[in-house]
Amino acid sequence: MAAMLNIDAGLDLVEALDSYASVTLQKTLANSIKLSGMGLHSGGETCVHVHPASENTGIVFSDGKHEILALATNVVDTSRGTSIGFNGARIRTIEHLMSALRGCGVDNAVVEVIGPEMPALDGSALPYVEAIAGVGLAELGAQREPIRLKEPICVRQNGSFILAVPAPKLSITYVLNYDHPLIGSQMITYSPEENDFAKEIAPARTFVLYEDVAGLLNDGFSKGGSIDNVIVVWQDRMSSKLRFPDELARHKVMDLVGDVSLIGGFLQAEVLAVKSGHTLNVEFAREVLRAQESAQT
Ligand SMILES: [Zn+2]
Repeated sequence: MAAMLNIDAGLDLVEALDSYASVTLQKTLANSIKLSGMGLHSGGETCVHVHPASENTGIVFSDGKHEILALATNVVDTSRGTSIGFNGARIRTIEHLMSALRGCGVDNAVVEVIGPEMPALDGSALPYVEAIAGVGLAELGAQREPIRLKEPICVRQNGSFILAVPAPKLSITYVLNYDHPLIGSQMITYSPEENDFAKEIAPARTFVLYEDVAGLLNDGFSKGGSIDNVIVVWQDRMSSKLRFPDELARHKVMDLVGDVSLIGGFLQAEVLAVKSGHTLNVEFAREVLRAQESAQT
Protein backbone atom coordinates (compact mmCIF):
# COMPACT_ATOMS: atom_id res chain seq x y z
CA MET A 1 0.00 0.00 0.00
CA ALA A 2 2.83 2.36 0.93
CA ALA A 3 4.54 1.56 -2.37
CA MET A 4 1.33 2.39 -4.26
CA LEU A 5 1.15 5.78 -2.54
CA ASN A 6 4.75 6.51 -3.48
CA ILE A 7 4.06 5.67 -7.11
CA ASP A 8 1.01 7.94 -7.10
CA ALA A 9 3.00 10.76 -5.55
CA GLY A 10 5.67 10.25 -8.22
CA LEU A 11 3.08 10.41 -10.99
CA ASP A 12 1.61 13.59 -9.51
CA LEU A 13 5.07 15.14 -9.53
CA VAL A 14 5.64 14.15 -13.17
CA GLU A 15 2.27 15.67 -14.12
CA ALA A 16 3.07 18.85 -12.21
CA LEU A 17 6.46 19.13 -13.93
CA ASP A 18 4.83 18.49 -17.32
CA SER A 19 2.29 21.25 -16.83
CA TYR A 20 5.04 23.60 -15.60
CA ALA A 21 7.10 22.85 -18.71
CA SER A 22 4.11 23.59 -20.96
CA VAL A 23 3.42 27.03 -19.46
CA THR A 24 3.62 29.62 -22.21
CA LEU A 25 3.78 33.27 -21.33
CA GLN A 26 1.86 35.81 -23.42
CA LYS A 27 3.93 37.79 -25.89
CA THR A 28 3.88 41.14 -27.63
CA LEU A 29 6.20 42.92 -30.06
CA ALA A 30 9.43 44.18 -28.50
CA ASN A 31 9.00 47.42 -30.46
CA SER A 32 6.62 49.08 -32.94
CA ILE A 33 6.66 48.29 -36.65
CA LYS A 34 5.35 50.28 -39.60
CA LEU A 35 4.36 49.13 -43.08
CA SER A 36 2.75 51.08 -45.89
CA GLY A 37 1.59 50.52 -49.44
CA MET A 38 -1.41 50.30 -51.70
CA GLY A 39 -4.69 48.91 -50.40
CA LEU A 40 -5.78 45.97 -52.55
CA HIS A 41 -9.44 46.96 -52.80
CA SER A 42 -9.43 50.74 -52.38
CA GLY A 43 -6.29 51.34 -54.46
CA GLY A 44 -5.36 54.12 -52.00
CA GLU A 45 -2.11 54.52 -50.08
CA THR A 46 -2.47 53.09 -46.62
CA CYS A 47 -0.21 52.73 -43.61
CA VAL A 48 -0.23 50.48 -40.56
CA HIS A 49 1.67 50.72 -37.28
CA VAL A 50 1.70 47.74 -34.94
CA HIS A 51 2.57 48.63 -31.36
CA PRO A 52 3.39 46.52 -28.30
CA ALA A 53 0.49 46.05 -25.85
CA SER A 54 0.18 44.83 -22.29
CA GLU A 55 -0.99 41.37 -21.23
CA ASN A 56 -4.62 40.39 -21.87
CA THR A 57 -5.14 43.26 -24.36
CA GLY A 58 -5.62 40.91 -27.33
CA ILE A 59 -5.27 42.39 -30.81
CA VAL A 60 -6.92 45.81 -31.00
CA PHE A 61 -7.33 47.84 -34.20
CA SER A 62 -7.57 51.62 -34.13
CA ASP A 63 -8.44 54.13 -36.84
CA GLY A 64 -7.44 56.99 -34.58
CA LYS A 65 -11.00 57.50 -33.29
CA HIS A 66 -12.33 54.05 -32.51
CA GLU A 67 -10.78 50.96 -31.03
CA ILE A 68 -12.04 47.63 -32.36
CA LEU A 69 -11.12 44.34 -30.72
CA ALA A 70 -10.17 41.70 -33.28
CA LEU A 71 -13.02 39.31 -32.55
CA ALA A 72 -15.32 37.47 -34.95
CA THR A 73 -18.29 39.24 -33.31
CA ASN A 74 -16.88 42.53 -34.65
CA VAL A 75 -16.58 41.31 -38.25
CA VAL A 76 -18.83 43.35 -40.56
CA ASP A 77 -17.89 42.03 -43.99
CA THR A 78 -16.26 38.91 -45.46
CA SER A 79 -16.48 39.52 -49.19
CA ARG A 80 -12.95 39.34 -50.66
CA GLY A 81 -11.32 39.73 -47.26
CA THR A 82 -12.20 40.09 -43.59
CA SER A 83 -13.26 43.51 -42.32
CA ILE A 84 -14.01 44.50 -38.75
CA GLY A 85 -16.05 47.49 -37.67
CA PHE A 86 -17.71 49.25 -34.81
CA ASN A 87 -19.99 52.30 -34.63
CA GLY A 88 -19.55 53.10 -38.33
CA ALA A 89 -15.76 52.65 -38.31
CA ARG A 90 -14.46 49.92 -40.60
CA ILE A 91 -11.01 48.41 -41.20
CA ARG A 92 -10.72 46.12 -44.21
CA THR A 93 -8.59 43.11 -45.10
CA ILE A 94 -7.13 42.43 -41.68
CA GLU A 95 -6.58 38.69 -42.25
CA HIS A 96 -2.94 38.66 -43.41
CA LEU A 97 -1.72 40.77 -40.49
CA MET A 98 -3.84 38.70 -38.09
CA SER A 99 -2.30 35.55 -39.54
CA ALA A 100 1.22 36.98 -39.20
CA LEU A 101 0.62 37.95 -35.57
CA ARG A 102 -0.80 34.52 -34.72
CA GLY A 103 1.84 32.67 -36.74
CA CYS A 104 4.61 34.58 -34.93
CA GLY A 105 3.05 33.87 -31.52
CA VAL A 106 1.89 37.41 -30.69
CA ASP A 107 -0.93 37.55 -28.11
CA ASN A 108 -1.23 41.30 -27.65
CA ALA A 109 -0.80 44.28 -29.99
CA VAL A 110 -2.41 47.58 -30.93
CA VAL A 111 -2.77 48.05 -34.68
CA GLU A 112 -3.12 51.64 -35.82
CA VAL A 113 -4.36 51.94 -39.39
CA ILE A 114 -4.14 55.16 -41.39
CA GLY A 115 -6.33 54.66 -44.43
CA PRO A 116 -9.35 52.53 -45.32
CA GLU A 117 -7.69 49.13 -45.28
CA MET A 118 -4.48 47.25 -44.66
CA PRO A 119 -1.70 47.55 -47.26
CA ALA A 120 -1.68 44.68 -49.79
CA LEU A 121 2.16 44.49 -49.76
CA ASP A 122 3.16 41.48 -51.89
CA GLY A 123 -0.15 39.67 -51.33
CA SER A 124 1.28 37.46 -48.57
CA ALA A 125 1.90 37.70 -44.83
CA LEU A 126 5.68 37.61 -45.29
CA PRO A 127 6.37 41.38 -45.08
CA TYR A 128 4.50 41.49 -41.76
CA VAL A 129 6.37 38.43 -40.46
CA GLU A 130 9.72 39.92 -41.48
CA ALA A 131 8.88 43.21 -39.78
CA ILE A 132 7.83 41.40 -36.59
CA ALA A 133 11.00 39.27 -36.67
CA GLY A 134 13.01 42.46 -37.18
CA VAL A 135 11.96 43.87 -33.79
CA GLY A 136 11.50 40.52 -31.98
CA LEU A 137 9.02 39.58 -29.28
CA ALA A 138 8.81 40.40 -25.59
CA GLU A 139 7.34 38.06 -22.99
CA LEU A 140 4.68 39.40 -20.65
CA GLY A 141 3.89 38.33 -17.09
CA ALA A 142 0.59 36.54 -17.75
CA GLN A 143 0.22 32.99 -18.93
CA ARG A 144 -1.35 32.21 -22.32
CA GLU A 145 -4.54 30.19 -21.90
CA PRO A 146 -5.18 28.29 -25.10
CA ILE A 147 -8.79 27.98 -26.25
CA ARG A 148 -9.78 24.32 -26.04
CA LEU A 149 -12.89 22.67 -27.41
CA LYS A 150 -15.14 20.55 -25.20
CA GLU A 151 -16.81 18.92 -28.21
CA PRO A 152 -16.53 18.96 -32.00
CA ILE A 153 -17.65 22.02 -33.95
CA CYS A 154 -18.72 21.86 -37.60
CA VAL A 155 -19.88 24.67 -39.88
CA ARG A 156 -21.02 24.18 -43.49
CA GLN A 157 -21.93 26.31 -46.45
CA ASN A 158 -22.50 25.38 -50.11
CA GLY A 159 -20.36 22.25 -50.14
CA SER A 160 -17.60 23.77 -47.96
CA PHE A 161 -17.09 22.88 -44.34
CA ILE A 162 -14.82 23.31 -41.34
CA LEU A 163 -14.72 20.56 -38.72
CA ALA A 164 -12.75 20.97 -35.51
CA VAL A 165 -12.32 18.34 -32.81
CA PRO A 166 -10.68 18.60 -29.38
CA ALA A 167 -6.95 17.83 -29.50
CA PRO A 168 -3.87 18.54 -27.36
CA LYS A 169 -2.26 20.71 -30.07
CA LEU A 170 -3.34 22.87 -33.01
CA SER A 171 -3.23 21.25 -36.41
CA ILE A 172 -5.00 22.62 -39.49
CA THR A 173 -5.54 20.68 -42.70
CA TYR A 174 -6.89 22.61 -45.68
CA VAL A 175 -8.29 21.07 -48.85
CA LEU A 176 -8.50 23.30 -51.90
CA ASN A 177 -10.58 22.00 -54.80
CA TYR A 178 -11.10 24.00 -57.97
CA ASP A 179 -12.44 22.66 -61.25
CA HIS A 180 -9.53 24.32 -63.03
CA PRO A 181 -6.71 22.71 -65.05
CA LEU A 182 -3.91 24.49 -63.16
CA ILE A 183 -5.34 24.17 -59.65
CA GLY A 184 -7.39 21.00 -59.13
CA SER A 185 -7.15 19.51 -55.62
CA GLN A 186 -4.43 20.47 -53.16
CA MET A 187 -4.13 19.52 -49.50
CA ILE A 188 -1.83 20.99 -46.88
CA THR A 189 -1.45 20.51 -43.13
CA TYR A 190 -0.03 23.20 -40.89
CA SER A 191 0.89 22.64 -37.28
CA PRO A 192 2.82 25.26 -35.28
CA GLU A 193 4.74 22.44 -33.57
CA GLU A 194 5.98 20.92 -36.81
CA ASN A 195 5.98 23.67 -39.42
CA ASP A 196 7.80 26.97 -39.68
CA PHE A 197 5.06 29.53 -40.32
CA ALA A 198 7.53 32.17 -41.55
CA LYS A 199 9.07 29.88 -44.15
CA GLU A 200 6.24 27.56 -45.15
CA ILE A 201 2.98 29.52 -44.85
CA ALA A 202 3.60 33.29 -44.64
CA PRO A 203 5.12 33.66 -48.17
CA ALA A 204 2.03 32.23 -49.94
CA ARG A 205 0.31 34.97 -51.95
CA THR A 206 -3.30 35.91 -52.72
CA PHE A 207 -4.67 34.59 -55.99
CA VAL A 208 -7.55 35.39 -58.27
CA LEU A 209 -9.00 33.60 -61.30
CA TYR A 210 -8.71 35.68 -64.46
CA GLU A 211 -12.44 35.18 -65.15
CA ASP A 212 -13.19 36.94 -61.88
CA VAL A 213 -10.93 39.96 -62.38
CA ALA A 214 -13.26 41.96 -64.64
CA GLY A 215 -16.11 41.31 -62.23
CA LEU A 216 -13.99 42.48 -59.31
CA LEU A 217 -13.14 45.75 -61.04
CA ASN A 218 -16.83 46.33 -61.85
CA ASP A 219 -17.69 45.78 -58.19
CA GLY A 220 -15.11 48.32 -57.08
CA PHE A 221 -12.82 45.67 -55.65
CA SER A 222 -9.14 45.22 -56.28
CA LYS A 223 -8.42 48.70 -57.58
CA GLY A 224 -4.99 48.30 -56.05
CA GLY A 225 -4.64 44.73 -57.36
CA SER A 226 -1.80 44.03 -59.74
CA ILE A 227 0.45 41.10 -60.57
CA ASP A 228 2.81 42.51 -57.91
CA ASN A 229 0.40 41.60 -55.13
CA VAL A 230 -2.00 39.01 -56.62
CA ILE A 231 -1.36 35.81 -58.57
CA VAL A 232 -3.70 35.92 -61.57
CA VAL A 233 -4.62 32.42 -62.73
CA TRP A 234 -5.55 31.94 -66.40
CA GLN A 235 -6.71 28.59 -67.82
CA ASP A 236 -3.18 27.83 -69.07
CA ARG A 237 -0.79 30.02 -67.08
CA MET A 238 -0.21 32.08 -63.96
CA SER A 239 0.99 35.70 -63.76
CA SER A 240 4.13 34.80 -61.82
CA LYS A 241 6.27 31.83 -60.90
CA LEU A 242 4.85 30.13 -57.83
CA ARG A 243 6.81 30.20 -54.56
CA PHE A 244 5.54 26.66 -53.78
CA PRO A 245 3.80 24.14 -56.07
CA ASP A 246 0.83 24.30 -53.68
CA GLU A 247 1.10 28.03 -52.96
CA LEU A 248 -2.66 28.55 -53.41
CA ALA A 249 -3.57 25.99 -50.71
CA ARG A 250 -0.88 27.46 -48.44
CA HIS A 251 -2.44 30.90 -48.89
CA LYS A 252 -5.82 29.47 -47.87
CA VAL A 253 -4.27 28.06 -44.68
CA MET A 254 -2.69 31.45 -44.03
CA ASP A 255 -6.09 33.14 -44.41
CA LEU A 256 -7.67 30.52 -42.12
CA VAL A 257 -5.02 31.04 -39.41
CA GLY A 258 -5.81 34.79 -39.54
CA ASP A 259 -9.59 34.35 -39.46
CA VAL A 260 -9.50 31.70 -36.72
CA SER A 261 -7.41 34.06 -34.57
CA LEU A 262 -10.62 36.12 -34.33
CA ILE A 263 -11.59 33.80 -31.47
CA GLY A 264 -9.32 36.08 -29.42
CA GLY A 265 -6.70 33.51 -28.53
CA PHE A 266 -4.75 30.45 -29.60
CA LEU A 267 -6.98 27.55 -30.65
CA GLN A 268 -5.99 24.07 -29.49
CA ALA A 269 -7.83 21.65 -31.79
CA GLU A 270 -7.52 19.47 -34.86
CA VAL A 271 -9.13 21.35 -37.74
CA LEU A 272 -10.13 20.11 -41.19
CA ALA A 273 -11.26 22.82 -43.63
CA VAL A 274 -12.57 21.90 -47.05
CA LYS A 275 -12.90 24.74 -49.59
CA SER A 276 -13.63 27.32 -46.92
CA GLY A 277 -13.25 31.06 -47.46
CA HIS A 278 -13.49 34.12 -45.23
CA THR A 279 -17.27 33.88 -44.67
CA LEU A 280 -17.16 30.31 -43.39
CA ASN A 281 -13.86 30.87 -41.54
CA VAL A 282 -15.44 33.72 -39.58
CA GLU A 283 -18.62 31.70 -38.98
CA PHE A 284 -16.41 28.98 -37.51
CA ALA A 285 -14.67 31.54 -35.24
CA ARG A 286 -18.11 32.75 -34.09
CA GLU A 287 -19.14 29.17 -33.26
CA VAL A 288 -15.99 28.70 -31.17
CA LEU A 289 -16.81 31.92 -29.30
CA ARG A 290 -20.41 30.74 -28.73
CA ALA A 291 -19.14 27.41 -27.40
CA GLN A 292 -16.79 29.26 -25.02
CA GLU A 293 -19.64 31.44 -23.78
CA SER A 294 -22.02 28.55 -23.19
CA ALA A 295 -19.27 26.62 -21.35
CA GLN A 296 -18.94 29.55 -18.94
CA THR A 297 -22.66 29.88 -18.19
ZN1 LIG B 1 -5.57 36.09 -48.20
